[in-house]
Amino acid sequence: MSRKPLIAGNWKMNNTRKDTIDFLDNFLPKVRNIASDIVICPPFTNLFTAAEKLANTNVKLGAQNMHWEDNGAFTGEISPLMLKEVPCEYVIIGHSERRQYFAETDETVNKKIKSALKHGLLPIVCVGETLSQREEGITMAWVTSQVEKALKDIPSSEVGKIVFAYEPIWAIGTGKTASSKDAEEVIKAIREKIGELYSKNVAENIRILYGGSVKPDNIKELMNEADIDGALVGGASLDPESFYRICAFN
Ligand code: PGA
Repeated sequence: MSRKPLIAGNWKMNNTRKDTIDFLDNFLPKVRNIASDIVICPPFTNLFTAAEKLANTNVKLGAQNMHWEDNGAFTGEISPLMLKEVPCEYVIIGHSERRQYFAETDETVNKKIKSALKHGLLPIVCVGETLSQREEGITMAWVTSQVEKALKDIPSSEVGKIVFAYEPIWAIGTGKTASSKDAEEVIKAIREKIGELYSKNVAENIRILYGGSVKPDNIKELMNEADIDGALVGGASLDPESFYRICAFN
């Protein structure tokens, strides 16, 4: 098993162009020797600026969302062709804030994943349960069903390019992290589901991240779990020192 750790920073609707430059000037030298994959996902308007800064570094660029169509009458949307042109390597798909506030569904998530793969973008696909679903005891059924719907009609030759991020909605931006044991339990179930849908080999090689109030002081414990391959980090990715410490697992 040789899954390379991946730490992705989701800046959400934060950081101007100047903030992006200041952040990267501070952050890039700190992480120069880190071997894990590191991805920064700034807002669309900062992607070209970030891409210039990231050229010839070990940090990769991702977008926070995309439409599944290549072009057309979709006011306010950004297409995979536009992301490739930047160039972005990764794209976050189906973040819970997109599902909650922008009406994304398992069906649109599936369309976006297919489109991202078609264009050579690596999707970081978010799944996770609400607090009431956890309290009802339906976490595993809910999350594995999100995974199954996301993967509908995606061939096994392509599925290995996908990264999943398990993000319990009640842990996002709340300061409440799932315990590393709880996160591991769900992530292991996601891996098993992928094993059922494809093969043990596919399941063993796919990367699955945890997200939800990841901080420098909880990353180490999370990374010690067998099935957790990295983190999708919101708030703590806005501070270069905190995000560096997360990338270094210290
Ligand atoms: P958080 O966000 O780290 O601020 O909880 C994580 C995410 O939404 O991806």
